[in-house]
Amino acid sequence: MAVQPDVNLALVTGASRGIGAAIAEALAESGRRVVLLARDAEALSRLEKKLVAAGAQAHSFVCDVANGAAVDATLARVEASLGVPGIIVNNAGVGGPFHRADEVSNEEWEALFGVNVDGVYHLCRWALPRMKAGRYGRIVNISSIQGLFGGARSSTYAATKHALIGYTRSLAAEWGAFGITCNAVCPGYIDTEMLLNADPASRTELLRRIPARRFGTPEEVAKVVAFLVGPHGGYINGSALVVDGGLSSHLANDVPSE
Ligand code: NAP
Repeated sequence: MAVQPDVNLALVTGASRGIGAAIAEALAESGRRVVLLARDAEALSRLEKKLVAAGAQAHSFVCDVANGAAVDATLARVEASLGVPGIIVNNAGVGGPFHRADEVSNEEWEALFGVNVDGVYHLCRWALPRMKAGRYGRIVNISSIQGLFGGARSSTYAATKHALIGYTRSLAAEWGAFGITCNAVCPGYIDTEMLLNADPASRTELLRRIPARRFGTPEEVAKVVAFLVGPHGGYINGSALVVDGGLSSHLANDVPSE
């Protein structure tokens, strides 16, 4: 008999740092057993120890989400040792390249799509039939406000994040009848390594354009994800929820100070 998805087992990709680590912590705090997945074994192990020390159940698995065969093999190990996750958060992602569209190389384009889009497809194609068998599933894909709008020197990243929203909405339509919801979360500028390392504009310049006048925290995104997969999120399906401090509602350069 097929293993039923466990409503209290949550798998988070890109859980080794940043937003993914905060999502794993938030879900562990809400009583879920968490499966932490990323490539950096040491960082995963540090978070696993921290969560276990706080009384949670956490299990790390090293995996490159861009590699479909590796994802299948890893998920087979998860299923055998822990069961089928009823919650999957596709958070793993890479930023850049901050080039003009005609300067983007094939390798850069394929690498970004490999993680940001193929990675999500690999997890979902494994999870959906299993979730359908148990008539339960909660999938959250971390897109970006660049999944809704464009940006100069950001065409590749924006294309991957737009693709994710189309994929999310289509899964919502296709699998909603089986108790499965699929939503996207679209963060603005969140204070993580990705923001520090990858954005060429100065922090001051970015802050000038955000009505909230600050960057978001990983925890603020994590709480939204926890809500979507929690008991009050069951009727939200196919949404692309913006968490950006008002940035995408503000087209002018300066935020009024008075
Ligand atoms: P981050 O600090 O750079 O963390 C990225 C995470 O993804 C890491 O845990 C990394 O782990 C993992 N990852 C990258 N490539 C992977 C791969 N091939 N296989 C498995 N895991 C992989 O970034 P972040 O800011 O937390 O971003 C998390 C998500 O939010 C991304 O999808 C990003 O596009 C999105 N987002 C971020 C912002 C922002 O301002 N920070 C805004 C909008 C959207 P390993 O290196 O250990 O594999």
